[in-house]
Amino acid sequence: MKKRGYYMTKLTFNDLGLKESLVKAIDDLGFTTPSPIQAEAIPVAISGNDIIGQAQTGTGKTAAFGLPMINNLKIKNAIGSIILAPTRELAIQVHDELVKLTKYEKLNIVAVYGGAPIHLQARDLKRANIVVGTPGRVLDHIRRGNLPLSSVEFLVLDEADEMLNMGFIDDMEEIMKSIPDERQTLLFSATMPPQIKKLSKKYLKEDAQHIVIARKEMTGSTIKQNFFEVNGTQRLEALCRLIDFDNPSAGIIFCRTKKGVDDLVAAMQARGYMVEGMHGDMSQIQRMKTLAKFKNGSLKFLVATDVAARGIDVDGVTHVFNYELPQDIESYVHRIGRTGRAGREGTAYSIITPKEFGFLKQIKNVTKGNIEKGNVPTVQEIYNAKFKLMANEVASIIEAEDYSKFVDVATQLTENHDSVKVIASLLQSQFKNQLSFDYSSDKLETPKSSKENDVRLFFSAGRRDGLTIKTLINYIKNNAKVGASQIRDIDIMENFAFVNVDNTIHKQVLEKCTGGKINKRRVNVEVSTNNKKRRSNSRKKAQ
Ligand code: ADP
Ligand code: MG
Repeated sequence: MKKRGYYMTKLTFNDLGLKESLVKAIDDLGFTTPSPIQAEAIPVAISGNDIIGQAQTGTGKTAAFGLPMINNLKIKNAIGSIILAPTRELAIQVHDELVKLTKYEKLNIVAVYGGAPIHLQARDLKRANIVVGTPGRVLDHIRRGNLPLSSVEFLVLDEADEMLNMGFIDDMEEIMKSIPDERQTLLFSATMPPQIKKLSKKYLKEDAQHIVIARKEMTGSTIKQNFFEVNGTQRLEALCRLIDFDNPSAGIIFCRTKKGVDDLVAAMQARGYMVEGMHGDMSQIQRMKTLAKFKNGSLKFLVATDVAARGIDVDGVTHVFNYELPQDIESYVHRIGRTGRAGREGTAYSIITPKEFGFLKQIKNVTKGNIEKGNVPTVQEIYNAKFKLMANEVASIIEAEDYSKFVDVATQLTENHDSVKVIASLLQSQFKNQLSFDYSSDKLETPKSSKENDVRLFFSAGRRDGLTIKTLINYIKNNAKVGASQIRDIDIMENFAFVNVDNTIHKQVLEKCTGGKINKRRVNVEVSTNNKKRRSNSRKKAQ
């Protein structure tokens, strides 16, 4: 029975030494029981100790540092706390959570990050009590004199290892050096790489408490894990087949690099998937928009790097795909932790090449995860799964919807034609767009799409004409009789669109697609002479 005390005694937020107004705010948020890191860190931090806290993502670290910080903050007319976070999204997330926690306090919380006008932030900082920001931008404000440090009582480093990964170590050190020594420092990190240990030794007090919350073992968790072994060129095909078979309602797909993200997004979009990418090179507005779309369900898939996805808190992710395995085991745990949240079931698929099998085994051993070998669905299996969905949809319409206005035409059709043929044709017209691309062969072979041989084409129809990636692909496919895999890098603009096709088929597309109609609009197709996605050698020529 010698388990952790808080399970046995049902510890509450009342027991942690927090003031009334904070307990009330927590109550309003609906938190009933402190999480392990909160139970252990809050009393220690309230007593004034520095903390090195280690716990998995999603364990409530924000409140673990936020609550004691707000509880003990003395300064009310100047900046009393600085919180460093690795990305704009995380800074905003921490900001939003702190706003909720300070519901009954008169504290002004300001988030600062790159990509937003610095003078507006400088103005906001004049009235700030708590500042949350990315290290680069915080340092920028310090250097400009926008962020006076003399009154700072608290310094928090959130996701310190990620800030290290993002190359912020020098900025972090400079900030730590500049803030008065009497301050209290709370450092949180999922892992403890040597540089973070060194930083803690150097800038935290000697009696700093190291609190480690053991990672939950993956066995018996609600996340189903499978791996699929393919050749390097078959990753995309395998991913698409898994998606088409499982039909996930929301999935995050991980790549190692920003370029990997961009390439995969382009390839998936060309096949008609609702997908966008997220990585550090994108503007803040772009990333927030993407995240918002993913959260409200208008975007089904998000392709991300580890850093961009770290800590992002989205419920209802049914699938995590490791399109490429991560660099380290810790990241694998973080990645798959994006699904199966709040006791729901989740699925984590890893697509690996034979060379990566050794590393996967290592992951399996360390995480004690039950990662089972799976088979990429065959074309027939995918069709069967789709047909089952179609049949269910039809059955539910028969049962629950009013289709009486179609009864007459249905009677006519079945009088003139065999009823099976009638139904099959209707299904064909209804569902042809649900099959995302041509599975040309059952063998996992993806045609090599060499961008070197791409030709960029201009289409004189755009969003205004109701053009979408899918309608454009279908238009090209149906008119020029080419495969969807030969069509890529589609950009739909307001009044026109661009698309790349193999040079072997570009004449055919030009000839067959010119003069046809997309949504009643007659389209003109030309070889594009001026576009950023042209080959780099043609750009050189132009210079
Ligand atoms: P971390 O920083 O460890 O990844 P967060 O601080 O972002 O975790 O918290 C994850 C989610 O859990 C947030 O939505 C937060 O509001 C919620 N949360 C935090 N503490 C509790 C608690 N004690 N009870 C219930 N939910 C909590
Ligand atoms: Mg966090």
